[in-house]
Amino acid sequence: MRSMLRQIVLFFSLAILVMFSAANALARGFEITVLGAHGGLEDGNLSAYLLREQGADVGVLLDAGTVMNGIMKADEAHDFDRIALPYDPASSRVGALIHHVIQSYLLSHAHLDHVAGLMAISPDDPGKPIYALPSVLSVMQDHLFNHRVWPNLADRGVKPTLGLFHYHELMPGHSVTLAGTGLSAVAYPLSHGGVESTAFLVRSGSDAMLYLGDTGPDTVEHSHDLEALWKEVAPLIRAHELHGIIIECSYDNSRSDKQLYGHMTPAWLLRELTSLRMTAGVPMKDFPVLVSHIKPSLTAGLPAEARIKAQLDAGNADGFRFIIARQGMNVVF
Ligand SMILES: [Zn+2]
Repeated sequence: MRSMLRQIVLFFSLAILVMFSAANALARGFEITVLGAHGGLEDGNLSAYLLREQGADVGVLLDAGTVMNGIMKADEAHDFDRIALPYDPASSRVGALIHHVIQSYLLSHAHLDHVAGLMAISPDDPGKPIYALPSVLSVMQDHLFNHRVWPNLADRGVKPTLGLFHYHELMPGHSVTLAGTGLSAVAYPLSHGGVESTAFLVRSGSDAMLYLGDTGPDTVEHSHDLEALWKEVAPLIRAHELHGIIIECSYDNSRSDKQLYGHMTPAWLLRELTSLRMTAGVPMKDFPVLVSHIKPSLTAGLPAEARIKAQLDAGNADGFRFIIARQGMNVVF
C-alpha cells in the first residue's frame, strides 16, 4: 500500500516536473513577426522584422522598411489576436498596435528599404529610441531627418531639432538594453558593397537570436566581417543558446558576383553557413534560418522566392531549416 502511495507521489512529482520544464521551455525563445519581407521593388513590403520574447506583447523592430502596412498585414493574419492592448480610446486598433507593440528600432543601415516605414510613420509615432551604429545614425541625421528630405524629428542635426526621436549610438561588441522590451542587443559591423551594415545579436537572458542586415559574402566583399561574426556566435551554437538566424539572400544563383552589390545568392549563403557550422564545430541540422530580403523579380517565370528556396534546398548538405520570410508570417524560434 505504502509503496503504491510512493509510486503515485513519484508519478505526480514527475508529471509536475515535466509540465514545469515544458512551461519553462515555452517561456524561452523568440517570436518574429515579418512586417516587411522584401529587399526592394515592392513598396509596402520592405525589410522589417518585429522581434519579441516568446509570449511577450512588445518588442523591437529590426529594420523599418515598412511599418504601418506591415502591422496591418500582420493583424489581418491574426498575429496580434492574443495581445492585450492598453486602453486607448484616442487610437485606432492599428494605431494602438503601432504605439504599443513596437517599443524601439534597431537599424542595420539607412538604405530606404530599411528605413522608409519609420520615416513615414515618424510624425505620428514619436518617442521611440532608434539604435544603430554611428555611421548609420549620421546618414539618418545628415541625409534623411534633415528638413529637406523629411523634417528633422530627431534630437540632433539640422536645426531646429524637433526631438521626437532619440538616437542611441551603438558601439560594436558592446551590449545595450533595448528600452521597454526585456531584450538586449550587441551590434557587429557587416560589409554591404561599400556601405557599413550591421548584424544584431539579440538576447533574452541566455537565449539569443541573430539578425543580419544586408551583407555580401566575405570573399566578394574582401572582408572578414562574417568570419568574425561566426567566431562570436560559435560558442552560443555549441551551448544551444542561439535559437535561429535571420539572414538575407537577395538574388538567385544566376546573378554574377560583379552584380551582387553587397548581397547574397543561395550558393554564397550556403557557403557562409557551412563556414559558420565549421567554426561552431557541431552539426547544425534543422537549425532555423529565416531567409530575408529577397528582391522580387519583374521578369516572367517562377517568383524569386521559389527559385531561391529550390536552390537553397538543392545545396543544403548541412540540413539547415530554411524558411522564406513572407509578410504577415509569425515564426517562433
Ligand atoms: Zn536592403
